[in-house]
Amino acid sequence: MKVTTRNIDLFDCTYCGLMAEARDHVIPVSYEYASRKCATWDSTEVVPACSECNGLLSSRWMPTIRERAEFIAGRLKARYKKLLSIPDWSEAELKTMGRFLRKGITANLKKRDLVSARIEYAESTALMNISPEDCWDRTPSTYAA
Ligand SMILES: [Zn+2]
Repeated sequence: MKVTTRNIDLFDCTYCGLMAEARDHVIPVSYEYASRKCATWDSTEVVPACSECNGLLSSRWMPTIRERAEFIAGRLKARYKKLLSIPDWSEAELKTMGRFLRKGITANLKKRDLVSARIEYAESTALMNISPEDCWDRTPSTYAA
């Protein structure tokens, strides 16, 4: 399948598992361009990524998926430090709160759990020795086909 900006969302972010919105250059375009005078969309050099991970990585020189995933796990932990420190609330505690407050806390707990899951995903990706090409075969859409 040819990957375009229109079907990139069929893939999951290589680093955090969210829906992909962009292609991350494992070898950043800026370096690639300087050395080869060309920028490619080759699946051996780009991987699917969400916009946040793509932005965090920008043009950093980290030529392996392992290094990049490790970096993402660290950056997500730092960026969401406050959110990640929110304690769990019991059902009994939540019941003593007004509807508005309960709704706010529940929403933050959902966000916290999503960020935790993204960090776990990045950490597990960092443990695998995968190449950019492998990242295109990792998504649920491929398994479903
Ligand atoms: Zn991501």
